[in-house]
Amino acid sequence: MEKSACPNCNKKIGGILFSNSLLTIAANNFINIFTENPGSGYCTDCGTNLFNACVTKLASQKADVLNAAIRIVDVIPIVTAQSPLKWDYSVIEMVSSQSVTGTGLLSEISSSWTDMLGGQSDALSNKLGNGETICRKQLRIKAAMLGGNCILATDIDYAEVGGVKGMLMVCMSGTAANLHNIEDVLELDKEKLSILQASIAELKRLNTIAIPQMV
Ligand SMILES: [Zn+2]
Repeated sequence: MEKSACPNCNKKIGGILFSNSLLTIAANNFINIFTENPGSGYCTDCGTNLFNACVTKLASQKADVLNAAIRIVDVIPIVTAQSPLKWDYSVIEMVSSQSVTGTGLLSEISSSWTDMLGGQSDALSNKLGNGETICRKQLRIKAAMLGGNCILATDIDYAEVGGVKGMLMVCMSGTAANLHNIEDVLELDKEKLSILQASIAELKRLNTIAIPQMV
């Protein structure tokens, strides 16, 4: 029986002389998502690099969309109030975020002890500030992924972790909610919010694309 050939590169498939095999249908479909001229099949000879390039493309597309969202996610308000006056909202669920920053924080604290006694430690407040910024961004992205446009009842905690190294963990938690009358109670950049929501929708779409078995 004559061996079948690869629909893409025409090489014969399998056999003693041919070590290539056809890619799975799922791998074929996966490649076609990222290819301008979809093919009806690929073999390991012509498809392996293509497949790996698509895996990389998917990861970089996700990273690009996420980074775009992170840049503008601050449009989502974070408040400590449980139920701000005049806010008409429905609760979605709790969101939390953690960040660990500052190797060598303890030594920095001791070396800047005099500064602290003087009422100020730049090293410490910078580390705290960075940790908080990361947590806020994470919290907002999580809320947006859940379809929320605000975070209520937000709480922040600090804990020292990592023993001698003196790392600092910042934990934040709050309640993601959907604020229905957001335009009435907040001055916000509506355009930014809709761009954010579009990026989040795109991120969710990309997250549904699973990387299949190649062969
Ligand atoms: Zn081929």
